Amino acid sequence: MIAQPRASRFNVLRLPVVGTFLRWRYSRFVLQVPLFLLALLAVFDGFTGRQIAPVNVATVSVWVHYRGLVALAIALVGNLFCAACPLMLTRGPSKFFSRFIPKLEFPKWLQNKFLVLGLTVLFLFCYEFFDLWASPFLTAWLIIGYFAAALIVDTLFAAGTFCKYVCPLGNFNFAISGASPTQITAINANVCTSCEGKYCLNGRLETTTTRAPLFGNRSEHVLLELPMAGEGHATRGSFPGCETDLFVPAIASNTDCTLCLNCVRACPYDNVALEVRSPIQEAITARPKADWALFITVLTWAGLVNAFAMIPTFFSFATSLSSFLGTRSEAVLLVVIQGFGILGGVALSSLAARLSGAKLRDYASVLLPMCLGIWGGHYLFHFITGYATLLPNIVTALQHLGLPLANLPKPSIPRADGIFPVQVVITYVALAASGYAAFQKASVSSNGDSRSLIFKLLPQVLVLLVIATITLLIFSQPMQARGSLLT
Ligand code: SF4
Ligand code: SF4
Repeated sequence: MIAQPRASRFNVLRLPVVGTFLRWRYSRFVLQVPLFLLALLAVFDGFTGRQIAPVNVATVSVWVHYRGLVALAIALVGNLFCAACPLMLTRGPSKFFSRFIPKLEFPKWLQNKFLVLGLTVLFLFCYEFFDLWASPFLTAWLIIGYFAAALIVDTLFAAGTFCKYVCPLGNFNFAISGASPTQITAINANVCTSCEGKYCLNGRLETTTTRAPLFGNRSEHVLLELPMAGEGHATRGSFPGCETDLFVPAIASNTDCTLCLNCVRACPYDNVALEVRSPIQEAITARPKADWALFITVLTWAGLVNAFAMIPTFFSFATSLSSFLGTRSEAVLLVVIQGFGILGGVALSSLAARLSGAKLRDYASVLLPMCLGIWGGHYLFHFITGYATLLPNIVTALQHLGLPLANLPKPSIPRADGIFPVQVVITYVALAASGYAAFQKASVSSNGDSRSLIFKLLPQVLVLLVIATITLLIFSQPMQARGSLLT
């Protein structure tokens, strides 16, 4: 069935100034450069600055600001970090190296989310085991490793392989942006049906400067051999398509969308919108593939395990577990605690799906708001307790580089006790959103049978209540203000 034109929906790309900037072909580069310079400074300070987490740009920018701002941006706007990701500046060098190294096909058996799921869990283990948040030196190496991995993967394989199948940060962003209020969509599906080149996916070589009409018909388009898009794109050259293989008219979620806006620039019919949507739309309508459903579920429970490791109960529990198992090995204790928390959570979610007469993938998307709430509420704590430290640390690092800058006043130590009420509100809003999504899913599958609806909904509500209760218990305890002056 051909969908009707959706021009009435609010399109961020139609906003004056902001829309014009986003459609400009160099907007991504402009956003990437400051983050790239910050990454360079973080590496410099990580290697040469004081090895104290709250006074080093590496640890403060990566573990305090990056994480907090990512969650905030995704909750309010969308996947802005991937949009401005400085790692993608390795595209230039990887294209250069690709002239000498033939591209390989990424192994079929790895073209799913299981590899990145394993890397994400490994990262969470390393974060605790090596105390990455406390080590500027290791954080600097992590930044370098990340750039090297992006360069190597996208040199050997097709561009976008790193983002889609390898990058834990990107896939973390894809998952929690399932509850963000924007999404790439086609404005008019009829235009896509008659589009000869599927340029949003395949890319477009520009050969003319004639402007295509917004809602033109097929005959108008055929007249333009490879038509030019709106004024914002009026530059000669080629426009790459979607590197993560998304075809705009088929997009139903934010999964794999880096908000690079390549599709916007490649579409010659100006038919791509960055549409404002309900943040719970995806939670209600999505039915992810099994691998992505598992990723969402693991990430939700891992959010609880990650936050749990920063409260006093964790340390008393780890001490008791150490006596019980007769080992003082931190690695063993971490594997047991993280493994039990994550696998136990996945087992509980799977059981709930089974009791609802469904599979894990049928209800995994209802966790999206809860997942954003857990990670967002947690990161908010670190961001608020550490936000004031970045600028003074940047100034100090630039002074080490020889720039004649005056010292900024020492940041005041922020109070942490006002954050809990905000975390409570976030948790309840997330619980309500996930609960509503579960209700909608259960309603659809029970076909108006209220008894069936109750039996399908009850297990989902119970699991969500368990998650929300654990979240509030964790947030209510004093948390290590890692990377801030409160540590
Ligand atoms: S979004 Fe544009 S390029 Fe993609 S199929 Fe539709 S009309 Fe064609
Ligand atoms: S090109 Fe692909 S990844 Fe980039 S904004 Fe469009 S759909 Fe998202």
